[in-house]
Amino acid sequence: MKVSAEEYGRSQSSGSCSYELKVIVTILERETASEEVAVDASRPGFVSTAQDSNYAPASSPTEVTSPCRQRQKQKVQKQLSEEGSMLVEDSVPISPELANWIKLNSKGLKIRKKDRQWASEVVNDFRECLLKFLRSCTKEPFFQSAEFLNTGSYFEKVKIHSPDEFDMMLKLQSPARLDMKELDGGLFYQLDLDHQPRGPIQAFLLDNERTLSSSKILKTMYRLVRQFLKTYKVPDELCHWEVNRKRPTSPAVTLSLYRSENVDEELISLDLVPALEIHPSQGWPAVVRNGPDVNNWLGKKVRLEIKSQPCYFVPKRMKGQNISDEAKESWRISFSHIEKKMMTYHGNTKTCCESNATKCCRKSCLMLLKSLIEGLKQRFPKELDDLCSYHGKTAFLHTLSVRFHDSMWACEKLPGCFLYLLGDLEDHARRGSLPHFFVPDCNLFSPLHFPRRALAFLVNALLEQKREGLPLLKPPAPVSPLKLRTSHSEDSSVLTEEQPTNSLLSHLNKLPIFIVALVVVVFLIYVNK
Ligand SMILES: [Zn+2]
Repeated sequence: MKVSAEEYGRSQSSGSCSYELKVIVTILERETASEEVAVDASRPGFVSTAQDSNYAPASSPTEVTSPCRQRQKQKVQKQLSEEGSMLVEDSVPISPELANWIKLNSKGLKIRKKDRQWASEVVNDFRECLLKFLRSCTKEPFFQSAEFLNTGSYFEKVKIHSPDEFDMMLKLQSPARLDMKELDGGLFYQLDLDHQPRGPIQAFLLDNERTLSSSKILKTMYRLVRQFLKTYKVPDELCHWEVNRKRPTSPAVTLSLYRSENVDEELISLDLVPALEIHPSQGWPAVVRNGPDVNNWLGKKVRLEIKSQPCYFVPKRMKGQNISDEAKESWRISFSHIEKKMMTYHGNTKTCCESNATKCCRKSCLMLLKSLIEGLKQRFPKELDDLCSYHGKTAFLHTLSVRFHDSMWACEKLPGCFLYLLGDLEDHARRGSLPHFFVPDCNLFSPLHFPRRALAFLVNALLEQKREGLPLLKPPAPVSPLKLRTSHSEDSSVLTEEQPTNSLLSHLNKLPIFIVALVVVVFLIYVNK
């Protein structure tokens, strides 16, 4: 499940708003014990340029905003910003309780260094050994030259709550130029090789000997991973990996790490996604060729740099019934590697997050939004099944590209910034318009991708959250992987920071007492009859 559009939210346990008090206590405890994720201070890669200050608040929820109007609005807001944007922004009233609640939750979202170490050691070992295995696999020469490309939220350092979900892309090189036929406005493609190829790729073509079959690639990947696991030993001997059942539209081979004596509890989940890299002589497909709108935020130079990166295709079948045979073999374009870079070099100036003095709250805002989306999905699993963290990430990227000045994201402005971001998501949902950040013609909130009913539900749920002081902005209550390795942990203090478990008892003691009393009274009346 999950990320970059590989990123799908996960429901780990059913949530309830009545945890608030406990959560505050837990977070306060954490504050003293937890180690925050260090911000990457090395900044090679993207070059940022300082820009003029700009400001564009979320449009009013009832307003329908056309792209043209938005531009006008931005112009007006730019003028406003030059006259003192902070005044405009700071005038949005936030109650001290709500501001504190947002700050507290933000602190509770950082992954502890210790958790990170254990999980990344296990996953890195898996990755290295799988790569060696693939290199030695003479029966599948196409996979022999594969390489890993790390993507996904863990490597972007915006992973929330626990380090138990990983995404990895296995890069496979296209041996020839591709004819990339759009199937739906730029997200899904049929990939044909531009001449009849020779070599190992032939095994992955359809009968027409041109079209690359996404299902064949994915099936082979599954087979290879299963074969690899037959001999692979996890460094922690008490654990083992298992391959999950294949899901029809998922581009990933999903694996779970279990402690051998307790296979009910998943410790780590790993999505392994094969990603076809376009031939070096080839640019991005025509519909995305302009690159994302980052001129104001990251600068024109970075936009050019982004466009010079290769793009990837992951084997994902389009949704829907009655789709053509070619669409069943479709590939989805992926920009995860660029999203990751944009998260790392996210500042409007080079100095953003270089030191404590220049730290911004952008990543915290994204983590909070992801946490709220996760909370909403847990609370309304059926109604919000279509919602995923990628919607949050997309809204976030749009907000950053418009509201780009570093000073607008100063750490102390976290509550206001987060509410602003939330307002933007609500606005996208209300207008039924959330263009993919890299594929502007593809609307992630169009009825095709997100049913109207679900969208209306989302708008109401977001409004309700705002009205009630964001109760679902709490960490969920899954069983932490640490709980299961008590005997191995050298630091027992970490173990005291677990969230409440999902046991029936823990839910029962949270039931308001009057409901219990009411049930007893009804029962007594019934018995007396
Ligand atoms: Zn920053």
